[in-house]
Amino acid sequence: SKTQVGFIGLGNMGNPMAKNLLKHGYPVIATDVFPESCKEMQELGAQIVDNPAEVADKADRIITMLPSSPNVIDVYTGPNGILKKVKKGSLLIDSSTIDPSVSKEMAAAAEKMGAVFMDAPVSGGVGAASSGKLTFMVGGAEEEFTAAKELLSCMGANVVYCGQVGTGQAAKICNNMLLAIGMIGTSETMNLGIRLGLDPKLLAKILNMSSGRCWSSDTYNPVPGVMEGVPSGNNYQGGFGTQLMAKDLGLAQNTATSTKTPVPLGSLAHQMYRMMCARGYANKDFSSVFQFLREEEGQ
Ligand code: NAD
Repeated sequence: SKTQVGFIGLGNMGNPMAKNLLKHGYPVIATDVFPESCKEMQELGAQIVDNPAEVADKADRIITMLPSSPNVIDVYTGPNGILKKVKKGSLLIDSSTIDPSVSKEMAAAAEKMGAVFMDAPVSGGVGAASSGKLTFMVGGAEEEFTAAKELLSCMGANVVYCGQVGTGQAAKICNNMLLAIGMIGTSETMNLGIRLGLDPKLLAKILNMSSGRCWSSDTYNPVPGVMEGVPSGNNYQGGFGTQLMAKDLGLAQNTATSTKTPVPLGSLAHQMYRMMCARGYANKDFSSVFQFLREEEGQ
């Protein structure tokens, strides 16, 4: 029978991911600082413990799915962190989207304890997490990839090896910077077209058969009423929060600064998403930038 897998961080993404491990027959031992988020997993048969150190005491394969860099530092190196009790040879996989330099620090700290750390951030939202169709971008020692893939493929349709530790985060951050730029571009374009008298559905149809087509125009259109089953049709509820997008754009800025890479549109996108957070959009889906632009025009 399969041995226990540890899971830390049972939020919007972690909860459905851990459920898929259970579905594949892995006993799960889990923890989260917010007791309410452990309830459902406990009912489904997961063992719940008090802190990450206790998870590491019992499981030698652990997945973490936490909001941002400080939480990851705390869960790995804090007073009740994984590294306090980690077993030699353990495989530690972090699927949070964080600063790649923090992934490298965690990998070095894990190595000192005889354990292996890999970064494996995901693309795909809560829907993909529930249906087990996430894409994992994995960084770390190549000889450990097969072991990581065994677990990650229970939760994802694509598991891609990117290179040394931190490169999974690099791929994720690059994707989300382009996504944000594309979403803002689509929103301002759609708004201009509407102002010029075009029907938004017709304009989207034309863009999607022309060279302006992108994911934000053809599968996640930000204009209410253009598409069904997307957050713009549901007052921008659900989906991927503006606050999380602002965080990811901040990570892109940090890496761009440290590598002296010009990212002028990424920088502007970061500022816009931060302004949105300050103006009450923090928990709305990131496609609400369309609504934000309309307000700027005094509508
Ligand atoms: P979330 O805030 O819903 O969940 C995070 C969980 O971690 C929470 O339940 C929180 O209580 C727990 N936590 C925080 N600190 C902890 C600690 N010290 N010990 C134990 N538990 C702790 O966030 P989410 O939406 O699940 O996202 C997780 C990560 O995945 C983020 O980095 C996010 O950027 C990334 N991501 C999210 C999506 C999405 O659509 N939501 C998509 C792709 C990637």
